[in-house]
Amino acid sequence: MAETDVSALAALLAEGDVVVLTGAGVSTDSGIPAYRDEEGRWKQSAPMQFREFTGTPLARQRYWARSMVGWARMAKARPNAAHTALAELEHQGRLRLLITQNVDGLHSAAGSREVIDLHGRLDRVICLECKELSAREALQARLVNDNPSFVGQDFVVRADGDVELDVDYARFRVAPCEACGGVLKPDVVFFGENVPASRVQTSMSALESAKALVIVGSSLMVFSGFRFARAAARLGIPIAVVNRGKTRADELSALRVDGNVGELLEGALRAAS
Ligand SMILES: [Zn+2]
Repeated sequence: MAETDVSALAALLAEGDVVVLTGAGVSTDSGIPAYRDEEGRWKQSAPMQFREFTGTPLARQRYWARSMVGWARMAKARPNAAHTALAELEHQGRLRLLITQNVDGLHSAAGSREVIDLHGRLDRVICLECKELSAREALQARLVNDNPSFVGQDFVVRADGDVELDVDYARFRVAPCEACGGVLKPDVVFFGENVPASRVQTSMSALESAKALVIVGSSLMVFSGFRFARAAARLGIPIAVVNRGKTRADELSALRVDGNVGELLEGALRAAS
């Protein structure tokens, strides 16, 4: 990293009225792996699509079996230097809005309040029939109770709390909604599903009056995040990218800082104060 890049980032943060957009690269130091490598390619098989999840009971058995086994690790994840630096930026009154594509809730855990969870939260569950929201933790207890033979499996955790298991998914007992018996889904936006319009509108209106858009830890390969870079470019709002590796917004950005996002943000905040 060049000193001048961090200084330029510090100058931009010092101006205030910043909208920040974060992705998986912010949470990797918390032990939550990224979906994509530094070139923006899938690291493992692509995550489950919405149509697949709603399409067959076996797809849901596979999803919830993996989710149950991976949950302990997701629930244990704690904010890292990047989350803390962004919470501090808000505390200093320099942040207009933090938009995150992450579903791990770690920005809120670090103390950020002005957060739009663009893709939802993994710690909530929604019923596809009656739309009732409930806590993922409560569902975990039901799943563990109903599926003792799946507890303690060896696994590899992925960015969405999913894991790879070598088991017979057809034997997994999926818990239904306690209110109506309907199908439960994590309250996250699956691939192939739209981000709720209200979240996009809130984010866009914050961006319209921002002095800069800072993209942190995201390759922006998914349109739901990339659209904010495009909107900023259209509005003439400068874009800064803080990321390890290439991003889809590189050509739109006025400033690119490559490296560990936690260290870069900490360094820039120190220089800005
Ligand atoms: Zn229900």
